[in-house]
Amino acid sequence: MNESVILPGATIGVLGSGQLGRMFAIAARELGYRIQIYSPENDTPAGHIADKEWTARYDDLDQVREFARGVDLVTFEFENVLSMTTDAVAEIVPVRPAGRVLHITQQRLREKTFLRDNGFPVTPFRRIAAREDMLAAAKELGTPGVLKTASFGYDGKGQIRVRNFADAASAFHSLNGAEGIYEAFVDFEKEVSVVAARTLRGDFKAFPVFENSHADHILDVTFAPAAIEEQLAREAEALARGILEKLDVVGLLTVEMFVTKDGRLLVNELAPRTHNSGHLTIDACATSQFEQQVRAVCGLPLGGTELRAPAAMANLLGHWWTNGEPNWPAALEDPQVKLHLYGKAEARIGRKMGHLTATGATIRQAVERVTQARERLARR
Ligand code: AMP
Repeated sequence: MNESVILPGATIGVLGSGQLGRMFAIAARELGYRIQIYSPENDTPAGHIADKEWTARYDDLDQVREFARGVDLVTFEFENVLSMTTDAVAEIVPVRPAGRVLHITQQRLREKTFLRDNGFPVTPFRRIAAREDMLAAAKELGTPGVLKTASFGYDGKGQIRVRNFADAASAFHSLNGAEGIYEAFVDFEKEVSVVAARTLRGDFKAFPVFENSHADHILDVTFAPAAIEEQLAREAEALARGILEKLDVVGLLTVEMFVTKDGRLLVNELAPRTHNSGHLTIDACATSQFEQQVRAVCGLPLGGTELRAPAAMANLLGHWWTNGEPNWPAALEDPQVKLHLYGKAEARIGRKMGHLTATGATIRQAVERVTQARERLARR
C-alpha cells in the first residue's frame, strides 16, 4: 500500500470551521474518518460535526503543532490561512493542497500574475501601490474598471467600481494604504465555475460547469449544467485542468470564470477548496464536492462527477430571518427540495446560513422549484 494514502479510520484535521468545513466533515465521517477542526472560534458549524474542536489563533504555532500531532493529514476550508500556520503543520503531517497553492491563491495579485504568466486568460490588470499607479492604470486599461484590495477579499468585499477617470483618485484613497489591483471591466454574459479535483497520482475529475448569479456581490443562485455550448464547457474544464496541473494541486480547486459577450472564457478567481457553487453536488451528483475533497486529499480514487438531473441551489442569507424563523415546512412542501442549514446561531444580514437544492426535468424547472421554495420561507 502506498504510504501517502490516508485510509478510512485515520483523522483528518481541518483549518477553518465554517459551513465548508462542516459539509466536509459530514462527508469525511460517512467515509469513516475522524475529524478535528481548528479555528479561533468555538461552537462552530464544523465543530458541531467534529470529534474535536480546537479554539486557538492561527498564529499560535504551539497550538497549531499540537493539533497537527494529533491528526494524519491537514486540509483547509478557506484560503486566508497564514503561511506560517501551514508551514508549521507541514513539518509534522502533509497539508493538502500544499501551502504553495494557498500562497498563490490567497492574494489576487499573485493569483492573476500566475494565471497571466502561464497563459491562462484573464482580464488585463495592474498592481496599485501609489496614486500614480492608479492614474496610469486607469489611463492604460481604460474605464470602467474594478479596483480590488490585493489581499483578504471575498464576496465582493474590498472591491470598488471605477466608473470614469475622475473616480480613479478617490477609488485609490478607499484602499486606505493597502495594496490593490486594478482590473479592466469585463462586460460578461454570465459567470460560471468549475470545481475540480486532482490526486497525488495526477488523476483529475471536474464537476459539470455551474452557472452562477449574484445578488449584492454574493452568490445567490447556481444551476447545473450551465447553459453554454458543449464546446465552451469542454474549454472551461480544460482550463481548470491546466490550472490544477500547473499548481500541482492535490485536493480540490474551484475556478470562477466569466463568459464574455463574444463567447470567450476569462478566469476571475481561484479558490483552493470546495465552493458555494458546488453545494448542489450533494443532492445532484454521483459524488459530492465534499466527498471528492476527502477522496482527493486522502489519496483514494476520485468518485464520479456526473449530474443525476438538472439541479439548482439557492443560498439562504441572514435576511431571511428578519421577521423571525423562516417557514421551513412551507419550503419543503415540494418533495424535490432539499434543505441544508449550517447550524449558525446568529442570523446576520449577508451571512450564509444555509441553502436549498432542487432537481428537475429541466434546468428551468430546477431553478423555479428552488427559488419558489425559498419564497415560501417568508409565508406566515
Ligand atoms: P471577486 O471578489 O473578484 O470574486 O468579484 C466578485 C464579483 O464582482 C464577481 O463575481 C463579478 O460579478 C464582479 N467582478 C469582479 N471582477 C470584475 C471585473 N474585472 N469586471 C466585471 N465584473 C467583475
